Amino acid sequence: MSVANEPSFRESVDLMFNRAVGLLGLPPGLEEKIRVCNATYTVRFGVRLRGEIKTFTGYRSVHSEHMEPVKGGIRYATSVNQDEVEALAALMTYKCALVEAPFGGSKGGLCIDPREWDEYELEQITRRFAYELAKRDLIHPSQNVPAPDMGTGEREMAWMADQYARMNTTDINARACVTGKPLNAGGIAGRVEATGRGVEYALQEFFRDPRDIEKAGMSGSLDGKRVIVQGLGNVGYHAAKFLSEEDGCKIVGIIERDGALTNPDGLNVEDVRSWIIKHDGVKGFPDASYTENGAAIMEEDCDILIPAAMEGVINLSNADRIKAPLIIEAANGPVTAGADKILREKGCVIIPDMYANAGGVTVSYF
Ligand code: GLU
Repeated sequence: MSVANEPSFRESVDLMFNRAVGLLGLPPGLEEKIRVCNATYTVRFGVRLRGEIKTFTGYRSVHSEHMEPVKGGIRYATSVNQDEVEALAALMTYKCALVEAPFGGSKGGLCIDPREWDEYELEQITRRFAYELAKRDLIHPSQNVPAPDMGTGEREMAWMADQYARMNTTDINARACVTGKPLNAGGIAGRVEATGRGVEYALQEFFRDPRDIEKAGMSGSLDGKRVIVQGLGNVGYHAAKFLSEEDGCKIVGIIERDGALTNPDGLNVEDVRSWIIKHDGVKGFPDASYTENGAAIMEEDCDILIPAAMEGVINLSNADRIKAPLIIEAANGPVTAGADKILREKGCVIIPDMYANAGGVTVSYF
């Protein structure tokens, strides 16, 4: 998402880094060395599909190799570009450092709309992408270990692990070349829901400290808090599910690709999720009001706003209209540096992505 006068995603991450690093008193030069991405590879490859050769573009960016393997997901989306993977790779470095997962930061992406391809085609594309990355050691159990991200999941990780194992038949650790695999392919229980669970835990911790609660001008506990979630993908779905089923939160708004649902009495997350899977969107869901302009619902009155879709959705164009006193960044980089400043000046508390969504990589480490 780009807005006029707004820096790019990578620049936005760097601006926030600069703000933090300004407080650290690092030796001269070290700041710049940490900030920059070490390497970004672009791979272009062809796959014979539907009677012709289709060309795809993918990236793997390595932000910091101060610890190896480097870690970070691979996303499938048409919006993937070099600036984005570099920003996301940097966030992985900071995220791993914060939770003391002993990894450097990396990120990958393939410029593709996964909904345009069937399962067989996606497997061909994924295997070829994995091949291109593996032959450059950009997938490697001891150097670079991808994971799921937007548009990818257990299935894609299983294909990648298998592709790597075929290319490295004597490597006993071959399956450790990616995390987020299905249980039956060497994955760990709890990885799928881990990021959403981490968002829940971060909020639970927030509401345990009266100083934090007061800073946001709030009171009480999570129980009864009105929550708006943007994006009911893997992270948003699990966060909303746990918060409503276990913490007493009311999910009063869910924003999806095709619009938003609102219900002041709370939405049933499981029912909305099933509806989306069946109808390819939220439109028509009973027991809720539907608004086609989903983004406007982020500006509605609520206690906690959870942007769980993608970067830059809270930006210079809407930050001053956001009413939530507490925002938790479940997605990577949903609040731009400019919006962050506006919101902080208004007294809004933002729980940052590098902490809020670190549950995924933490369970990857386990
Ligand atoms: N997509 C995850 C993230 O953004 C990947 C974490 C991992 O490497 O497990 O944190």
